[in-house]
Amino acid sequence: MKTDIKSLLPQELSAAMQELGEPAYRAGQIFRWLSSGVRSFDEMTNLSKQLRAKLAENFDLTAPEILRRQVSAQDGTIKYLWKLNDGNSVESVVMKYAHGNTVCISSEVGCAMGCAFCASTIGGLVRKLRPSEMLDQVLFSQLDSGMRISNIVLMGIGEPLDNYDNVLKFLKLVNSPDGMNIGMRHISLSTCGLVDKVDKLAADNLQLTLSVSLHAPDDETRMKIMPVNKAYGVDELLAACRRYFARTGRRISFEYAMIDGVNDTPRHAALLAEKLRGTGSHVNLIPLNYVSESPLRPSTPEHMKEFIEILKSRNVNVTVRRRLGPDIEASCGQLRRAQMKHSQ
Ligand code: SAH
Repeated sequence: MKTDIKSLLPQELSAAMQELGEPAYRAGQIFRWLSSGVRSFDEMTNLSKQLRAKLAENFDLTAPEILRRQVSAQDGTIKYLWKLNDGNSVESVVMKYAHGNTVCISSEVGCAMGCAFCASTIGGLVRKLRPSEMLDQVLFSQLDSGMRISNIVLMGIGEPLDNYDNVLKFLKLVNSPDGMNIGMRHISLSTCGLVDKVDKLAADNLQLTLSVSLHAPDDETRMKIMPVNKAYGVDELLAACRRYFARTGRRISFEYAMIDGVNDTPRHAALLAEKLRGTGSHVNLIPLNYVSESPLRPSTPEHMKEFIEILKSRNVNVTVRRRLGPDIEASCGQLRRAQMKHSQ
């Protein structure tokens, strides 16, 4: 099997060039070509033909194709369905915010976590993405849209902490000054709550923003919608979040999808406020996106309002996620699902 060249960190690329008997500065040249989005080694025009042939012999170069591209007429949100080199597909979404253009990327093909409300997990996990394949989503979204990407959220298909090593490597690559140079503080990572990996991330002490998909303040409710809760209960997860904050100084943001009659009662709101007391954390409420395969429905506006009022009255920081791209099914997993059904 050939080495995936775009998954190599600059120092690894230097070592690989040395092995090929090339001078060290070649690594810099090649890294810059890779970061510019070339699709083949032949596009690296300041390298000799022989070297380009040698690279093609020894390395794989990932470059996704656009299977579908949807642009929201309402807010300019762009959704991409990418075809990867092995034929699998994943999604990314580019959104315009006041603080800059943000791309939401996938970390795996499918997902093993099995959350009851999520379209990404319906067919299970197919495979984890390579660092290069995460980088490509940022790079090619920017190239195709012509929008400079300044922020990244790992909130697309997959569980990023289930693909820990590749995600960490991707973060280093995208953060590299010779590459896309996107700062850690401009990157958010969302997890369903793999406690051992939250601790590992705390130990790595990166300055990214961690979001935790909580969706319920008690085990009984959370167990019904998130199988991961069987491995790590709510209190254990919240304890890990406190350790994370103590270690990194970065406040965690909790995501909470409002599901009609499941997690949206005044009792849930009061318990949520109690459990988050003293953490200074922020709660991001998401009206559940309708997924046709699931019987779950979004909460009514009245129930949401009541829920928000209870949180506010108990000094919990709460925002409601703005829905972007409602006309293009921009929530994660939906486009890939539609494509899979279509080709069955
Ligand atoms: N696996 C990671 C990241 C991917 S999902 C995680 O679980 O956090 C990004 C966010 O969208 C998560 O908070 C997820 O729970 C939420 N989500 C998934 N399906 C949804 C739906 N149908 N409606 C609203 N939010 C949903």
